[in-house]
Amino acid sequence: MVRLYNTLSGKVEELQTLSPGAVRMYSCGPTVYDYGHIGNFRTFVFVDLLRRFLRQSGLKLDHVMNITDVDDKIIRNAAERGLGVREYAVKYEEAFLEDMRWLGLEQPEHLTRATEYIPQMARFIAQLTAKGLAYKTEDGSYYFRIAKFPEYGKLSKKDFAGIEVGARVDVDEYEKDNARDFALWKSPKPGEAFWETEIGPGRPGWHIECSVMAREILGDSFDIHLGGEDLVFPHHENEIAQTESLTGKPMARFWLHCRFLLVEGEKMSKKLGNFYTPRDLLLMGHKASAIRYLLTSVPYTKQLNFTFDGLKQAAHSVERLRTLKNRLEKGKFPAGSNPKMAELASATKSKMRAGLDDDLNTAVALGAVFDLVREANTAADAGELKKDDVPGLIAALHRFDEIFNVLEDRDGAVTRAALEWGKSVGRLTPEQSAPWESSLSDAQIEALITERNEAKKLRDYARSDALRHQLADAGVILEDTKDGVRWKRK
Ligand code: AMP
Ligand code: ZN
Repeated sequence: MVRLYNTLSGKVEELQTLSPGAVRMYSCGPTVYDYGHIGNFRTFVFVDLLRRFLRQSGLKLDHVMNITDVDDKIIRNAAERGLGVREYAVKYEEAFLEDMRWLGLEQPEHLTRATEYIPQMARFIAQLTAKGLAYKTEDGSYYFRIAKFPEYGKLSKKDFAGIEVGARVDVDEYEKDNARDFALWKSPKPGEAFWETEIGPGRPGWHIECSVMAREILGDSFDIHLGGEDLVFPHHENEIAQTESLTGKPMARFWLHCRFLLVEGEKMSKKLGNFYTPRDLLLMGHKASAIRYLLTSVPYTKQLNFTFDGLKQAAHSVERLRTLKNRLEKGKFPAGSNPKMAELASATKSKMRAGLDDDLNTAVALGAVFDLVREANTAADAGELKKDDVPGLIAALHRFDEIFNVLEDRDGAVTRAALEWGKSVGRLTPEQSAPWESSLSDAQIEALITERNEAKKLRDYARSDALRHQLADAGVILEDTKDGVRWKRK
């Protein structure tokens, strides 16, 4: 019996799906303006574990994850580099999908891009407006009228009784606690990318994307909506307001949120120098399986404190599991069977099951599998693990790995791919002793610098910035001096 903590009810509840035997779910995907960090991947690994666990529980999966390929940061970064929105975002989208593969995450049944659902978003906003739930401002933007949705606040348990009617929020770049009418659609600012639609030119707000893509594929109501804890408010609260005020039906029955990952006890930030992407860790020589294992090791409802000691421990744990599997597959054991080993295999399976049934308690499941590792090794050392016990023990490990996915050793291939990437962007550290190779020759670098000087003379700053970024991506550092531009390789 699968039980999950539902943020909406504030309780652990039994999962009953709308259609028997199948689960329809939506998880908020990445905003692809940069490489994903390990905090993001804590949430994505949690979603992957849930997928695998629900499948093991006999449910057919129908899972949508969006890729937010348009937002303020993407538009700004793309413009700075003289690129189109999609052209800019696709690089990070591909990197994200590659990170998913490297960390052993399954692709959801549907991956949807915001930029592919713009007309549907405009339609949705037109319908909200026709019902008086949204309004257009003078500049052509649209806002949701939260005073029209009395249940506003039911997910985040915030009280909006005293809210000022018509007060607006103009930013949608992760506004955190503005209890105000929020933007559904933003009219274009000069020089910004926009779409021409039935409600006028502009681009969608962040929240409307998820409401629309979820409804297009999963329908008005579905089973589970997932994301990191920072999404409870305002993102998911706003999704509920938009969808439920339009359809009059509950959007999702379960709302699950993954607690944040901290690094060495602190919030991860570039400023503190404790900001890591999976790619950074791979280039430092850590294994993909250890990263995945560490991210799964703490139940999703508890804060996970990432430390390098923890990562080392995780690598050691993966090694112990693989060593036992190898021993069972390749070792020689006396003929016969030991009933204690059959008991051990079956007790491990039921303990894992009970742990995961209890709101995906991965710590209990891991505890059970390590009891098996210890006891099977002790029995084998004493000659008490017999030939006929082997298949049962391997089956228990297999059951574990259907969810945790760390037993098969893909680490070498992932590390090689990460090193290739590190080389291509000039990010290899000297300790890795791989000689850094610029993808550009000296002559090519000089030619790009001349081109950049000319662009600057013509005041084409978009072009000159794009050239500077191209050089930076190839590991070339420019110094503007009074005698002209000097350059060196990183
Ligand atoms: P973003 O790409 O910023 O929209 O985030 C993608 C996902 O990562 C969202 O579900 C966020 O809630 C989640 N997330 C962001 N930071 C962290 C963190 N430090 N720990 C866990 N999840 C996070
Ligand atoms: Zn979302």
